[in-house]
Amino acid sequence: MPTSLQPSRLLSLPEHHYSAIDVQPLHQASLLAYNTELATSLNLPATVQHLENWIALFSGSLLTPPQQPIATVYSGHQFGIWAGQLGDGRAMLLGEVVSSQHEHWEIQLKGGGQTPYSRRADGRAVLRSSIREYLCSEYMHALGIPTTRALALTASNDVVYREQAETAAVVTRVSPSFLRFGHFEHWYHKGLNHDVQVLADWVLDHLYPECLQADNPYLQLFATISQRTADLVASWQAVGFCHGVLNTDNLSILGLTIDYGPFGFMDGFDPHYICNHSDHHGRYSYQAQPAIVQWNLSCLASCFLPLATEEELVAVLNGFVAQYKDAYLQKMRAKLGLYIEDEHDQELIDDLLKAMAAQRVDFSLGFRYLSQVQRNDNTIPQKLRHIWPLPDVGLTDWLQRYRHRLQQEVLNDEERAVRMNAVNPKYVLRQYLLQQAIEQAQQGNVDSMNELYQVMSKPYDEQPEYEQYAALPPDWAAGICVSCSS
Ligand code: AMP
Ligand code: MG
Ligand code: MG
Repeated sequence: MPTSLQPSRLLSLPEHHYSAIDVQPLHQASLLAYNTELATSLNLPATVQHLENWIALFSGSLLTPPQQPIATVYSGHQFGIWAGQLGDGRAMLLGEVVSSQHEHWEIQLKGGGQTPYSRRADGRAVLRSSIREYLCSEYMHALGIPTTRALALTASNDVVYREQAETAAVVTRVSPSFLRFGHFEHWYHKGLNHDVQVLADWVLDHLYPECLQADNPYLQLFATISQRTADLVASWQAVGFCHGVLNTDNLSILGLTIDYGPFGFMDGFDPHYICNHSDHHGRYSYQAQPAIVQWNLSCLASCFLPLATEEELVAVLNGFVAQYKDAYLQKMRAKLGLYIEDEHDQELIDDLLKAMAAQRVDFSLGFRYLSQVQRNDNTIPQKLRHIWPLPDVGLTDWLQRYRHRLQQEVLNDEERAVRMNAVNPKYVLRQYLLQQAIEQAQQGNVDSMNELYQVMSKPYDEQPEYEQYAALPPDWAAGICVSCSS
């Protein structure tokens, strides 16, 4: 049996921060996907022959796991309202492994069964949402965006009920930590400031040791979380990603993308894009994300009131907007191939986005094909023209300004195109592609899912054999709306 699975370092927290969980095996479980590359980096067996016990472990069916599984307690604000205690209702921590780079990675099952925090729900996850989480966490990683990772996907014949009967699955996910803003909120809102401090000390010691050098390590911790979160949301905006459920319990204290639910990558650019079927007022729309994330940080800031002064925390919070804007501008400049800073760059970006929004130009391809613009040639590149419904209205004038702006740059057209293509994905994990892969997997055929995984693992590369994945989405894709039941 695996000897390298170690007890979670969270066990050094006081016992009331977590609960021991029983193993609750799925029936007729089968491994649908195993992330060999990630496994190798975690010193786990790369091939299935050596995997038997690990598979049982990863699907939650190893009756005597090497470490006691635990679930942690947290609380949170859901849709802006204090929801009280939530916790790992279907996530169980199996322990941790240490990578070749000596990093600790926690291994967690999502959908592993009920816990004391399940609140009358079944502790399970459906195949549909598990495929989405598996594919999207790895796609995010391939894009270079911080995220929890997916190591394995297990399906079963067990029936679970959402809007209809579906089957249960487990995603085995790994992360240096799954701690959320909500872990701090839990203790703060109970008035247990000592526990807030114990948790902050644990986080400093294990995840942010660099902050221990500061005059007030707690304040530095909050400031670092704020900066990472600003960078994260800037990365989302730059790829047209909408998380869908940005509740405080779904924000990682490490600034990782966590808890993939009704997320969506935009097709045609729409700043008001809402991916979550239940988000009637667009609280978590694409354009709302930066401000919502700042609001979530203000909830976290309150929890640090026992550890830093109000003025200090407010100052950090007020710095968020500038941090976000800097990070966003830097990413958008790179998307446009602008490396010398010009004070009018933000305006140039805003005007492009306005023009794209007016015609619902495909967000990802709109940027990708800008790399084909030649700075001394007025013709609109063919691929770019093809994805703009009315190029002469929105694009021509803007391109004139863009070409003018490019005259300031040092790189030639070819060099710029290479660098732009390295930050503008050609392949996008679009809703309709996920839907197709899911429908087939539900029929027992995982070929599409595997192919999608392959294509999306190299989103910036030209993959001529997969050109169809880089096409504009079909018309029926516009009608897809993702339910948040999972
Ligand atoms: P989410 O909206 O997915 O972030 O989940 C909010 C809370 O509900 C968390 O405490 C989850 O653990 C819990 N939860 C969601 N789905 C289930 C489920 N099927 N069984 C138990 N708990 C769940
Ligand atoms: Mg306990
Ligand atoms: Mg969640």
